[in-house]
Amino acid sequence: MINETPRVRFAPSPTGYLHVGGLRTALYNYLFAKRNNGAFILRIEDTDRKRYVEGAVENLINSLAWCGLTYDEGPGKEGECGPYLQSERLPIYEDYVLHLVEQKKAYYCFCTAERLDVMRKEIEKNGGQPKYDKHCLSLSQEEIREKLDSGMPYVIRLNVEPGKTIAFDDMIRGRIEFSSDVIDDQVLLKSDGFPTYHLANVVDDHLMAITHVIRGEEWLSSTPKHVMLYEALGWEIPKFAHLPLLLNPDRSKLSKRQGDVAVEDYRSKGFLKDALVNFVALLGWTAGDDKEFYHMNELIDAFSLDRVNKAGAVFDLQKLNWLNAEHLRSKSIAELVELLKESLVTSSFAGNHYGDELLKQIIEAMLPRVSFIQEIWQNGAYLFAAPESYDEAVIKKRWTEDSGRYLEVLANHFEALTSPTKEDFEQALHKASEELQVQHAQLIHPLRLAVSGVGGGPGVYDIVVIIGQAEAVNRIRKAAQTITK
Ligand code: GLU
Repeated sequence: MINETPRVRFAPSPTGYLHVGGLRTALYNYLFAKRNNGAFILRIEDTDRKRYVEGAVENLINSLAWCGLTYDEGPGKEGECGPYLQSERLPIYEDYVLHLVEQKKAYYCFCTAERLDVMRKEIEKNGGQPKYDKHCLSLSQEEIREKLDSGMPYVIRLNVEPGKTIAFDDMIRGRIEFSSDVIDDQVLLKSDGFPTYHLANVVDDHLMAITHVIRGEEWLSSTPKHVMLYEALGWEIPKFAHLPLLLNPDRSKLSKRQGDVAVEDYRSKGFLKDALVNFVALLGWTAGDDKEFYHMNELIDAFSLDRVNKAGAVFDLQKLNWLNAEHLRSKSIAELVELLKESLVTSSFAGNHYGDELLKQIIEAMLPRVSFIQEIWQNGAYLFAAPESYDEAVIKKRWTEDSGRYLEVLANHFEALTSPTKEDFEQALHKASEELQVQHAQLIHPLRLAVSGVGGGPGVYDIVVIIGQAEAVNRIRKAAQTITK
C-alpha cells in the first residue's frame, strides 16, 4: 500500500473502440486505485478534431462498463474536477497558455506550413534533428500585435531552453534522462484554438490532482515535454509509470493486421469479460508466483506496480482461450444458464425457447467439453434437434451389418419403459444386449451415432435423458432404417 490516497486516470482519445492495450492501461489504473483506496478517473482526450468519431465516447464507456471498470469520476459521473471531456475545457487551456506567454515561457509562432517544411528539409539535409528554429521567438511585441490584429493564423509554442537535462523517475523503468537539445519547441495551442495533447494532458492531470500517471510505453517520449511543462507552470510533477508494449507472438507491435484488437471483437466472439480482464491483467504483470487464474477481486488484492515488467508482453491467444474455459467452469449453474440464454440469439436455434431445467442438464453434460458457452449450441446441436446426418468416419468404424437390427430391438426396450431415469435406459440396453447375445458396446456405439450423429460427446445415457424417451426412440428407429455401410 502507498501512503497518499492516489488519484489516477485513464485518458483515452476516442478513436471509435477500446483497444486491448487501452483496456490494459485502464485496468492497471483501476486496480492500482482500488488496491490503494484511491480514485479512478475517466478523462476523454478529444482535442484532435480531425480524429473525431461519432459515438466513440459511448462505445468506450460501454466497453469499460462491460469489463467492470467503473470510474469514480468521469463523463456522466461528474466530480469536483469536471468537465471530463477535454473539448469542454478549452477556455482553461487558453488561460494557462496565455499565462506562459506572459512569462515568456511560451511564444506565438506565425510560421506557415511551407516555411516549416523548407526549414525541416534543410535541417534534415544537414543531418540535424528536425526541430523548430525558434524563428518567431525574436518577434517584437509590436510585430506580434500587428500579426494578431491582422488575423494571421498562429500557434503557441513552448520555449524549450537548450542544454538542459530533463530527468524523472519512472516507477517501472527507473531514472530516465533526456537532453532538452532533442526536444522541439512543441506546439501547445494549435491554430484551431484547441490545445495539443501535451498541454491539455498536463493541465488536466494537474487540475484533476492526478498523483500517478500510468500509461503505455508509447507515451514515454512525450514525458520530458510534460516534465518541462510542469516546471514552466510551476506545478508538482506526478509519479509516472509507463507500461510495456503489447506484442504479437512474433514480437512485432500488436496491431489490427494480426488479429482482433478491440474489446468489442472479443466480446462478440463470446469471450467472457472475466477471462478477458484476467488475461489482460497478465500482459506485463505477475504476482510473482505461478498463479494465472484470477477473479477481479483477487487482482485488486494482488496488484502492485512494482511487479510490472519492463519487457514487452506477448499477446498469447491460446492463454486467453484457456482462461475462458477456466472462468466458464468457475461459474455457478445459474450464471451459466443466463449466459447460455444470452448466447441463444447468436446460435442457429435463435427464436426457440428452452426451459431452465433442460438448459441446466445440457450445461452439466457439455461444460467439461467446451471453452466457450456458444460451443454448447454448436457442439451439442443434437441436444436441441435431431441430427440431419451421421458422421461417415464413425459409421465406418462402429457400424456393422447387424447394427440396424440391434437398434430396432433397443428401440423397443426403450419404448417399453415408463418415466425412465438414466439408470433405466442403461438397464434396458443391458437387457437388449442379453436378448441379442451381443456385447454392450455393439449397442452403445450405434446408439450414440443414432441419437447424436457423431462419435463423441457427453455420456450416451445423459444424451438420451436430455432429448427424452420418445425422441430417443424416434432417432434410434430412424438411424436403424437409414444408416447403411
Ligand atoms: N490521450 C492519450 C491516449 O490516447 C493519453 C495518454 C496518457 O495517458 O497520457 O492514450
